[in-house]
Amino acid sequence: MTTGTNWRDHAACLNADPDLFFPIGTAGPALDQIDKAKRICQACPVRTRCLAWALDLGAASGIWGGTTEGERRAMRRAATRQRSRARQKAIHE
Ligand code: SF4
Repeated sequence: MTTGTNWRDHAACLNADPDLFFPIGTAGPALDQIDKAKRICQACPVRTRCLAWALDLGAASGIWGGTTEGERRAMRRAATRQRSRARQKAIHE
């Protein structure tokens, strides 16, 4: 990837079916769509940047960086807990 280009230009999902990345629901056929989307993400050269973008945005729906909305919510909660523990530790040292 060339520095300075838009990371989205290198997305493995550029020519994939967009419906895979925006499944309706979290059960039934949506599970198959999520699985297919995640497999595309696994081979994506910009996965880390894509995930960081989605985490920063907060409210992004769909599959980004190989994660679902729920998985990103859990990642944000875990990061918040970790920051809180680090702050508490710094206060009490
Ligand atoms: S990580 Fe997944 S959603 Fe993000 S650009 Fe790559 S293929 Fe697309």
